[in-house]
Amino acid sequence: MGGNQEGLTTWISEIAWRDFYINILYHYPRVSMHRAFKTDTEALTWNEPGEKFEAWKEGRTGIPIVDAAMRQLNETGWMHNRLRMVTAMFLTKNLFIDWRLGEAYFMSKLVDGFLASNNGGWQWSASTGTDSAPYFRVFNPVTQSERFDPKAISFASGCRSWPNSTTNAFTIPAAKAALFRRGIRDLLWT
Ligand SMILES: Cc1cc2nc3c(=O)[nH]c(=O)nc-3n(C[C@H](O)[C@H](O)[C@H](O)COP(=O)(O)OP(=O)(O)OC[C@H]3O[C@@H](n4cnc5c(N)ncnc54)[C@H](O)[C@@H]3O)c2cc1C
Repeated sequence: MGGNQEGLTTWISEIAWRDFYINILYHYPRVSMHRAFKTDTEALTWNEPGEKFEAWKEGRTGIPIVDAAMRQLNETGWMHNRLRMVTAMFLTKNLFIDWRLGEAYFMSKLVDGFLASNNGGWQWSASTGTDSAPYFRVFNPVTQSERFDPKAISFASGCRSWPNSTTNAFTIPAAKAALFRRGIRDLLWT
C-alpha cells in the first residue's frame, strides 16, 4: 500500500461516494422517481430546454471544455468525473435547465450509467441533493480548464470530432472569458 498515498485515498473516497449514493437511493427512493432529495428545491423554475439544451447535448455551446466533454460522451460513452461536474453545473446553473433532463441524457449515453451515482452526481451538481454543493457554487468553465487541462490534451482525447490541433483549443474568446470571470451568465450565444 506504499507509493501514491494520495491517489489511494482519493480512490477509496470515490468508492465511498458510490456506496453513499446507493444508500441514499435505498433509504430515499423518491430520488429515483424524478424527485429532488431536498424537496424545497422542487419549487425551482427552470428554463424551457429548447435549442440551448440541444447545443449542450451536441457539444456546440461555444465553451470548449463543455463541448469537448459532451462530444467525448457522445462518441465514447464516457466522461471524466470532473467534466461530469463541469457539464452538469453548466447545464443547471448557467443555462438553468432542469437537472432531470441532463440526468436522463447521461443515462442514455454513459457506458457506466448507474442510477445511484448518476442521480447523486446530478443532484450534487444542481444543489438539490444530500451533500450538495451550495447553490451559489458554480464551476467556472474558464478556470476549470486552466486548472485541470490548460492544453486540452486529456479532455479532448478520444474525441474524433474535436480539432486535431489542440493548440488553443481551450482558449475561450476573451470577451466570453471576461464575462464568466465577472460572473455574468446567459450571454453565451451573443
Ligand atoms: C453528473 C455526474 C454523473 C455521474 N454518473 C455516473 C454514472 O452513471 N455511473 C457511475 O458509475 N458514476 C457516475 N458518476 C461518478 C463518477 O463520475 C464516475 O464513477 C467516474 O467518472 C468513473 O471514473 P473511473 O472509473 O475512472 O473512476 P475512479 O475515479 O478511478 O474511481 C473508482 C470508482 O469509484 C467510483 N466513483 C468515482 N467517482 C465517483 C463519484 N463522484 N461518485 C460516485 N462514485 C464514484 C466509481 O465506482 C469508480 O469506478 C457521475 C458523476 C457526476 C458528477
